[in-house]
Amino acid sequence: MSGFTWERGPFTRCAKCDNPTMGILSAAGELLTKRCSDCRATVRIPLPELDKKAIYLDQFMFSMIFNVKNNGNLPKGHEAFAKEVYTLLRRCVLLQQVFLPHSDIHHDETTVFHSPIDLRGLYESFGGDVSLKDSRDVELLQDIQFAKAFFDGKEPEVSLDIDEIADGRRNEWLPDMHVGVRADYSQFEEHIRTVRGEVHDALKQLADTWLENKATFTGVLESEFSAIGPTKKQAFANWFEEVSNPDPSDPSALFESSGWPIHREYRELCYLLEERGVDEGRHAIEIMKFWHWDRQREIPHQKISSYLFAAVAKRVVMGEKKIVDRGLVNDVRTISTYAPYVDALFIDKRCAALLREEPLRADLDYKARIFSLSDPDEFLGYLREIEGQTPDEVREYAAMIYGVD
Ligand SMILES: [Zn+2]
Repeated sequence: MSGFTWERGPFTRCAKCDNPTMGILSAAGELLTKRCSDCRATVRIPLPELDKKAIYLDQFMFSMIFNVKNNGNLPKGHEAFAKEVYTLLRRCVLLQQVFLPHSDIHHDETTVFHSPIDLRGLYESFGGDVSLKDSRDVELLQDIQFAKAFFDGKEPEVSLDIDEIADGRRNEWLPDMHVGVRADYSQFEEHIRTVRGEVHDALKQLADTWLENKATFTGVLESEFSAIGPTKKQAFANWFEEVSNPDPSDPSALFESSGWPIHREYRELCYLLEERGVDEGRHAIEIMKFWHWDRQREIPHQKISSYLFAAVAKRVVMGEKKIVDRGLVNDVRTISTYAPYVDALFIDKRCAALLREEPLRADLDYKARIFSLSDPDEFLGYLREIEGQTPDEVREYAAMIYGVD
């Protein structure tokens, strides 16, 4: 046999024509399609079911993988780790045991990376291309589940299953030839930098107040919790102000104001009340009551972020003002929204250390195992364990389709 064929190796004997020309035509989803390049006999083989683990890597790790792939600079002292983790992650993804989900937090940070398009391509080609719901939507999802309990006078129940927030293809076999969409988000770059700068300034001011008042962990935690209702009320008032007095020189502001998270939550809550036959005139009152409900503090994202900020405040008062940097808010958001759903979270050392402290260790409940550069071997061990647990049948198909041995 010579020349071009649509089928590719490994070739086996064809049952129909008996030639060794039965190759792989395609693999994706739940199906492997093999075809004979000689007589065109086609077989479709259902692939084994999968149960992939979600390993969330922070932006730093994705940049590192990018640099391993492109022979860029690796973090000092972690060169060997970078290469090994790259190989192991690649293996676990191709063995269909793991996916590395990406979120809006990555996308924001990627946009300000030096090669944003290539880095996005990495989520798709290297990570198995599963996106998570935006962090704001995850928060809203939990808020709504609590609101239902509040309006119905029931116990809150929040499902923290990964399928609540991951797109439905997480357990599909990866396509054997990956064609990624290369979106260009660079037009958002300036906006993201500005917003991040503003958030950082606000947090720095807060850090000054903590320092001045010699804030304690318990004090900050309590004030974070009791601020939930008033903060939502204020955000809503700000939104209302914006739509009521639009800047005539900026018509797009009005358009944008419908995307405010607080407005989205308010609207969702109105739907819930409508479904329950509550008179429209009472919606605002009921929503304010819900926002001031003392069980708001039990909503997973509220609880985790409040504990983290209280732990940060404690460090600031102890003299570690540097802990408040540009990345902190995104790190807190990543943990507080995604830690309850994913199997593992690789985050920066600072936040990993905070989560190990009491009372965070005892009081916070989330599914993810936390890893960081403080103990790189622990993460490598975790990946080797997953690798070793790959079922034989899956391993054989993965070898055939993706060439992973
Ligand atoms: Zn044949």
